[in-house]
Amino acid sequence: MAILVYIENTAGAFKKSGYEAVSYAKAIGDLTGQPVHALSIGKVDAASLQHIGRYGVSKVLEVNTEQLHQFVNQAYAAVIAEVAKKIQATTIVLSNSFSGKGLAPRVAAKLNAALADGAVTLPTIEGDIWEIKKSAFSGKAIATQELTAPVKVIALTPNAMEAVESPTTVEIELFQPSVSASDLSTVINDIVQATDKIPLPEANIVVSAGRGLKGPENWRMIEELADVLGAATACSKPVSDAGWRPHEEHVGQTGLAVSPNLYIAIGISGAIQHLAGVSSSKTIVVINNDPEAPFFKVADYGIVGDAFDIVPKLIDAFKAYKNH
Ligand SMILES: Cc1cc2nc3c(=O)[nH]c(=O)nc-3n(C[C@H](O)[C@H](O)[C@H](O)COP(=O)(O)OP(=O)(O)OC[C@H]3O[C@@H](n4cnc5c(N)ncnc54)[C@H](O)[C@@H]3O)c2cc1C
Repeated sequence: MAILVYIENTAGAFKKSGYEAVSYAKAIGDLTGQPVHALSIGKVDAASLQHIGRYGVSKVLEVNTEQLHQFVNQAYAAVIAEVAKKIQATTIVLSNSFSGKGLAPRVAAKLNAALADGAVTLPTIEGDIWEIKKSAFSGKAIATQELTAPVKVIALTPNAMEAVESPTTVEIELFQPSVSASDLSTVINDIVQATDKIPLPEANIVVSAGRGLKGPENWRMIEELADVLGAATACSKPVSDAGWRPHEEHVGQTGLAVSPNLYIAIGISGAIQHLAGVSSSKTIVVINNDPEAPFFKVADYGIVGDAFDIVPKLIDAFKAYKNH
């Protein structure tokens, strides 16, 4: 019996959420006394594969088949299930990322396993019965899920667990999966990256702005603040509806759900539909000129004032701090 953790990569580099999944799997391994094997699918360089050892995993199975260099949901799910069977994994951990949300239920169906999607805690283990908490109702509640099947698939919410270093020597084994033609009925031939900006779902820090910014011409200062902090930019729905910002930046109930370590909301009222997508952020800072703005109720830190006065001062202060 073993634990299998699938680590996602982008353009050959493992994602931060992948290392979080590895640390989570390692923690389950410590609880159950089972070894943890990591699975990498796609083209990843040897140094990155070795780097997984820093997070306590001693064996990495590498699938580097050319047909799988681009992400294909069906085929990747088939490979994860095949590897899980080969190593007799009873727990399969992956990230509840955009791709993970598609993979986890497929893998669970293939293995006839119980599925915990969007896990935010380690399991409480009572024999075969595991209890895990997940965020529910767009982050407004925490649900407790009970997994009773012998095989369990757990999709960990990004940023719910820190990647913890626990260095060990790692063995890398090449694995040749038996992918069928039907698993490759849809393939991605090429991906052209539109921007070199930090992708919003993976960002540690998000600088987000709303209608309080008055118009698209005022986003220069939002981008500058994001640049100095190494953050991604986001916005409220009316802002993207008005075409001030691209739709990919819209967060909330009808947009992306994000859970960064720091979410800075500037000129956003804090409507419930917006909060639905951001309330699981670790720390929320709100800048609004209306002291009664609902966003202040969920803020860890609030600044009451005019964004056009405060944001440039923050940019100067962060620049000065960085050059210190
Ligand atoms: C079914 C449904 C789904 C929805 N889904 C979403 C969603 O996914 N995401 C989302 O964001 N919204 C969503 N909405 C819309 C949501 O209800 C709000 O209307 C929207 O979030 C408000 O956007 P806002 O805060 O940018 O604008 P406003 O509500 O106009 O708020 C602007 C804020 O800026 C402040 N402000 C003004 N000037 C300044 C200044 N100079 N400095 C500082 N602060 C200033 C104001 O005090 C105010 O609080 C949805 C609505 C519905 C009905």
